[in-house]
Amino acid sequence: MERYPIKGLISASMLDWPGRLVSVLFLSGCNFRCPYCHNPSLVKPDRSLEEIPFIAVKEFLKERDGWIDGVCITGGEPTLNKWLPGMIRELRALNLEVKLDTNGSRPQMLLELLGEKLVDFISMDVKSSLERYPEVTRVPVSTDDIRRSIEIIKSSGVNHEFRCTVIPGLVEEKDLISIAELLQGGEAFVLQQFRPGDTLDPAFGELEPYPDDLLNLWSEKTSNILPTLVRGSINVNVYRL
Ligand code: SF4
Repeated sequence: MERYPIKGLISASMLDWPGRLVSVLFLSGCNFRCPYCHNPSLVKPDRSLEEIPFIAVKEFLKERDGWIDGVCITGGEPTLNKWLPGMIRELRALNLEVKLDTNGSRPQMLLELLGEKLVDFISMDVKSSLERYPEVTRVPVSTDDIRRSIEIIKSSGVNHEFRCTVIPGLVEEKDLISIAELLQGGEAFVLQQFRPGDTLDPAFGELEPYPDDLLNLWSEKTSNILPTLVRGSINVNVYRL
């Protein structure tokens, strides 16, 4: 049996997939180095985090048959792994729906997953306007691949959302407008409030978030381009159409 680097499991969450109760699987390894990342131990290979055997994960999920709707696969960046389709096939064989979180850097993998109808919901992080990607990801990124992933997801026929964590200094109003224009025609744009804490770059751990009112104001502007939701502020989950 294939070994998958599953380094975390949340048994039941109602926050990761709107309207669904899901278990969340965290896969290790990421090709980006976003300084505000809240999962630093999943980004770089971390031997201190024990791998959870997939066979144990499947047993755990089988025991919850009928209680949970599906599984959210997150990371790290799940699409870096060539075995991802095989893992999802095994999860679907348990009658579970699958949501995928991705940074959009591997459009070819998205095509493969969509071609086999392996995912039911895709959530793609869009880090900032395309020209600011290197500033945010701190590694060279093909923005052509990011643009391609956006187009693939928009035209997939699969439910989806695009998310942007609105980081002071890295994402400003003009960036959000530029992102919204790229996403036009997509189902939803989620502006996520930044929360300080344990971050990949400790300097970001104490960064003051933008005021919630400012996110709400910006969401009103982007909602002229596509439906926009603010998440993580006091006025949570308010869709603006
Ligand atoms: S925020 Fe996401 S894409 Fe960025 S480093 Fe963390 S896991 Fe990778």
